[in-house]
Amino acid sequence: MGEEKILLKDKDFAGAEDIANAKDMPGSKETSAGAKGIAAGAKGIAGMDGSKTNVVISGTGVLAKTVRVSKKGDELYSCSRCGTCLSICPVYKNTLDEGVSPRGKLSLIEAAANKTLPLTDKLSQKIYTCTMCNYCTKECPSGVKISELFRAVRQDLVDSSKYPEILDMLKDKIKTAYNITFDTNQGRLDWLKQIPGITLSDYVKDTAEVVYFVGCVSSFSPRSFSIPRAITEIFKRADVDFTLLGEDEWCCGFPLLSSGMTDAVTSLALHNIGMVIKKGAKLLITSCPSCFHTWAHEYTELTGVKPDFEIMHVSQYLLRLIQEGKIKLNDISVNKAGIKVTYHDPCDLGRNSGIFEEPRQVIKSIPGIDFIELDTNRLQANCCGGGGNIESLNPALSSKIADAKTDEIFATKAEIVVSACQQCERTMNTALKRKKGEIDYKVKVLDIAELVLQSMNAEG
Ligand code: SF4
Ligand code: SF4
Repeated sequence: MGEEKILLKDKDFAGAEDIANAKDMPGSKETSAGAKGIAAGAKGIAGMDGSKTNVVISGTGVLAKTVRVSKKGDELYSCSRCGTCLSICPVYKNTLDEGVSPRGKLSLIEAAANKTLPLTDKLSQKIYTCTMCNYCTKECPSGVKISELFRAVRQDLVDSSKYPEILDMLKDKIKTAYNITFDTNQGRLDWLKQIPGITLSDYVKDTAEVVYFVGCVSSFSPRSFSIPRAITEIFKRADVDFTLLGEDEWCCGFPLLSSGMTDAVTSLALHNIGMVIKKGAKLLITSCPSCFHTWAHEYTELTGVKPDFEIMHVSQYLLRLIQEGKIKLNDISVNKAGIKVTYHDPCDLGRNSGIFEEPRQVIKSIPGIDFIELDTNRLQANCCGGGGNIESLNPALSSKIADAKTDEIFATKAEIVVSACQQCERTMNTALKRKKGEIDYKVKVLDIAELVLQSMNAEG
């Protein structure tokens, strides 16, 4: 980081210490309540008393550990403090703590990079209080690549051993068992083996046109078993030549990537790519949006390998199968009165991967559905509260964000809310259970594959 940049920054924006002392932010749309939030936040983060006595400036400490953030260059200094991101950030909206808002986090990152704040545990806690929903990045009028900066600073925090302890557990699990649970990887197909009468060799073949990459949550969380079961049943009935990887499937690495533990992901990526190549597949399907995002948008950069097979999310592939006439959809409405269905855009599928229309087209192809959009949708979709490891790091905040999502669902009066992500499905299901009794009808959460299978099974 050059001296010039530091001087420029000092002139344009004084940094987190001034924010801590400020009554309000210059140009802020927020009230002083917001400013108070960040004042308290920054003070707490820095362990500062307003003087410079506690400010740690170390040539080998902060700066050395913020190389990855400093590589981001001008982006780090282009936040104009306009406050646009406050009104859309689920974390800020549910905490009113500016220290965890996008703008607040950026000022802390700047201060750390500028050596006026040390990388402390409290700063780390603020940085990790984020669903990584990416909404702030998409809405920022100054084009600040906020999420990239968050990821970069998380890497720096990991390098400095200033990250939530729980992430060590996650890393150990993935490193030793290649999945996010304490189960051995041999259990990857338990969801399948428990189906009476199945022949395993029909599902795990030496070669196949298509590899279905199931993902850790669907493989190991019994609550999500219905998703891979639905997908494999659809594939069988549509005559898709597919295989699973079984215990040769390793975690895609997304939980580590979003935690800042990027270096640990390359070997997972190389292994997974190698396994798909070994099967001779032309197409890789994932049902988890985070797996999809990692495969489609991260693996090549991480490994330098550009796989020559196509990568699709299952919602895209289902649409292809429908358009090719390989699956027959029947009316799912009761007594032929349209059933109200809405769709929640998973952050990693929609905003982070650009897949908005295919899941909607799949839902709308099903006869008997009266489709209604949620108030926030596509690029503006509110997160369900299940992203960024926030469920483990701050379960109360995760629940608050999920509760806000259920209010949006209730407002549509939909009987079914569809998602295309097992994590969103889990988070929304739990939140809807908490809100039981608040509405006089039942809302069901279904994965897109479950909805398609329901339609295939309906009486034609
Ligand atoms: S991050 Fe972007 S939207 Fe948020 S305050 Fe800065 S310039 Fe405004
Ligand atoms: S990524 Fe989402 S949760 Fe995190 S700061 Fe941005 S808007 Fe808030």
